[in-house]
Amino acid sequence: DEKGWVNLNDLIHQSMMMLQNESKYVADVIFREQDDIEVFCNQGQIGQVLVNILNNAVQAIRSQEKPERGRITIGLGRTEDKANIIISDNGPGIPKEYLSRIFDPFFTSKKVGDGTGLGLSISYDIIVNKHGGMLAAHSETGRGAIFDILLPIHDH
Ligand code: ADP
Ligand code: MG
Repeated sequence: DEKGWVNLNDLIHQSMMMLQNESKYVADVIFREQDDIEVFCNQGQIGQVLVNILNNAVQAIRSQEKPERGRITIGLGRTEDKANIIISDNGPGIPKEYLSRIFDPFFTSKKVGDGTGLGLSISYDIIVNKHGGMLAAHSETGRGAIFDILLPIHDH
């Protein structure tokens, strides 16, 4: 795996563009842009994580049969040695009994054909094992979901 210095603002914009066709009729995707943040990482892998999590948010909002437009918010910040990306949605949320299983390979609540249940387990592997970071989910049924990514700024 090749790593290099990656501008997270650019990567987030690219990931949003990749999902524009899926998201445009479903939700407003809002990126609260901060200063430029560069991280030493594998660009393709981290881009895949962002697309996986954003795609789940779009699917979650679309799965609701309410007429309102959804909202997906992307936050980006940093501490001295870590970058932090927070992706939250106002979809149906993750039931409490699922929360401990969503990072397991093949865990899916979607019907056959809609989900393989691999997106979050691959994302976890990329963030935690391949980059020494952290990936966590917070949610309450009916209150949307929050995915919190911590990524070391320098190689680990
Ligand atoms: P898949 O999307 O193929 O089901 P994932 O690994 O991407 O597999 O996600 C696993 C499960 O986590 C989903 O089936 C869903 O139950 C839950 N999940 C993930 N993201 C969200 C979200 N934003 N809102 C509600 N549930 C979610
Ligand atoms: Mg998925």
